[in-house]
Amino acid sequence: MLRKGVLFVISGPSGVGKGTLKKALLENMNDLLSSISVTTREPREGERDGWDYFFVTEESFEKKIDQGELLEWARVFSNMYGTPRDFVASNLEHGQDVLLEIDVQGALQVKKKMPEAVLIFVAPPSIHELAMRLTSRAQDSAESISSRLAASEDELKQIDYYDYLLINDDINDTLAKLESIVSAERCRVKNLELR
Ligand code: 5GP
Repeated sequence: MLRKGVLFVISGPSGVGKGTLKKALLENMNDLLSSISVTTREPREGERDGWDYFFVTEESFEKKIDQGELLEWARVFSNMYGTPRDFVASNLEHGQDVLLEIDVQGALQVKKKMPEAVLIFVAPPSIHELAMRLTSRAQDSAESISSRLAASEDELKQIDYYDYLLINDDINDTLAKLESIVSAERCRVKNLELR
C-alpha cells in the first residue's frame, strides 16, 4: 500500500534564488523528485538537454500542447515553458513527492487542476535587491533584466493564491523554512492516507 505523493510548486521572480534553493532542497531531501520542464528557449552555457530542460522547437512544443502532454504551460519572457504531465502523474501515483519550479501563470493552472498541490512563493526582500541580484549574476542582457523586473512586480501581486510565502533574506534561513514546509506537509493526515 502506498501513500499519495505530494506535489510541491515553487515560484518567485527571476533572480530571487529559486534555483539555489531548489538545488539545496533536492540535495538535503533526496526523496523529493524534480520535474524537468520542456522549453523553447535556447540552452544557456553549461545547460544540458534532458537535465536542465528538454529543449524543443516551438512546433514540437505546440504539438505537446495539442496532444495534452503538458500539465501546465506558459509563455515567459517570449519563450514557452511547460511541465510534462505523465512524469508528474505517474510519480504521484507511485507515492513519490514531486517538485516543480515554475512561473506564477503555470502554478495557478496547477492549483486549479490539483487543489491539493502545495504552492510556495519565494519573494525578494525588495525589488531593489532583486535588481542588484539580476545584474550581478551577469546572465541576462539589460533589456532582459528590465522585462524580468516588470514581470516580478506582476508576479508579486499573485501571492494571495499561494499557500506559503518565504522572504528570501538569508538563503540558509529560507532553506530551513522550505524544508520545514516539506516535512510538515508530508505529515498532514490527508497526505498520509493509504491508497
Ligand atoms: P529560465 O529561463 O530562467 O530557466 O526560467 C524562466 C522562468 O520560467 C522561471 O520563472 C521559471 O520558474 C519558469 N519556468 C521554468 N519551467 C517552467 C514550466 O515548466 N512551466 C512554467 N509555467 N514556468 C516555468
